[in-house]
Amino acid sequence: MIVLKFGGTSVGTAKSIQQVVEIITQTEQPKIVVLSAVSGTTNSLIQISNHIKKGEVDDALLCVHQLHNSYLNLTGELYKTPNYKERARAFVATKFNGIKTLIETKESNNIDNIIVAQGEILSTNLVQLFLEESNVSSSLISALDFMEIDENKEPKINLISKRITPILNQNLSQKIWITQGFICKNELGEISNLQRGGSDYTASLIGAAIGATEIQIWTDIDGMHNNDPRFVENTFSIKEISFDEAAELAYFGAKILHPQSLIPAKENNIPVLLKNTFNPSSKGTIIKNKSVKSGVTAIAAKDGITAIKIKSYRMLMAYGFLKKVFEVFEKYETPIDMITTSEVAVSLTVDNTLHLEKIVKELNPFGKIEINTNLSIVCVAGDFSQNKEGVSAAIFNSLKGISIRMISYGGSNYNVSLLIKTHDKTAALNALNIGLFAKQFELQHY
Ligand code: ASP
Ligand code: MG
Repeated sequence: MIVLKFGGTSVGTAKSIQQVVEIITQTEQPKIVVLSAVSGTTNSLIQISNHIKKGEVDDALLCVHQLHNSYLNLTGELYKTPNYKERARAFVATKFNGIKTLIETKESNNIDNIIVAQGEILSTNLVQLFLEESNVSSSLISALDFMEIDENKEPKINLISKRITPILNQNLSQKIWITQGFICKNELGEISNLQRGGSDYTASLIGAAIGATEIQIWTDIDGMHNNDPRFVENTFSIKEISFDEAAELAYFGAKILHPQSLIPAKENNIPVLLKNTFNPSSKGTIIKNKSVKSGVTAIAAKDGITAIKIKSYRMLMAYGFLKKVFEVFEKYETPIDMITTSEVAVSLTVDNTLHLEKIVKELNPFGKIEINTNLSIVCVAGDFSQNKEGVSAAIFNSLKGISIRMISYGGSNYNVSLLIKTHDKTAALNALNIGLFAKQFELQHY
């Protein structure tokens, strides 16, 4: 069995939904199809919740009305026959009337989660109805019946497996199962979710739970690129990348995947194939446990980085200094991304500056604090277990004209991170593209 997940743009229009159906009906192989909400829907539903929280009932109802209309347009275009158009319209109406009732009565203390869950409930039901109209046999299964998180918001993998198996066994001849990404129940049995972008995670969790042979993530780009196409002209999609390298990239610009989503697939050794719904003949990118080649695979960058330097002669030959520093960040639940130390100073970076002022105040007694903002981390990912010297020389040669604020190398065999001014980012990405991928450009036949 395989798992196919389609993102919001893949189910965004009548035309793209038809394309999705084409893709899932192309092979006879049994499959579970995980769907996101129609693009823009989750944002609108969150906006509705925010209006409710602020007591803005009229604004909330107006948003519901606008979103409802967009679904009437979609269903009007998608279905061919009056009968199915009507069935879809009636279904959409029950969902939006349900939201209106919630707004008016405020009859739940879980309104946010119930409202945001409607996006995936709508998309899966509409796609399933369209399959029915197209005479394609499929079964819709509710993620709320098997996807559950514990009190730490961690999915209960064993439980998912225990629950989904009998559901699938009920109809052994069924080839296409449709279910919702993102949504789940919590330990109290209430509707919850796996956080924004969580549909990828759903796909990976289901893949692990059923021992799938492959997980396919269908989006609107040709897999992962070797560099950021928004800033660099000559990029190409990577054919193959290891989980370790992909995980390093996931935090950075490579927004194609929800970072956590790779863990269940990696742990269960299930390859993840990234494909483009709008260009299915492109091979896409396969993420596997072992990388086939050594050297640089891809470059990505993340903006909005702040560096904090703590300079203290008390650090010289002392122990326990870093522990005290880390405790301050832990207290304010602020993750540290990069870290470098010298004998008398430590520099670290954060992307969340919500508690920066308080953090700096608590760090002040440790030494002299210096803050730099508007920085970017450039991540060079690859398998550097061999030929380390060649890679670092090529990186520094490429970045000759650019001042580097911090370097992190050796934390893993799969990444070199460089902290630079955001102002220099485009130049750095382009210089690295030429310096590190010149050979691949000659070999690219994509
Ligand atoms: N619909 C959810 C979101 O927009 C989940 C997803 O698409 O992955 O965050
Ligand atoms: Mg997504």
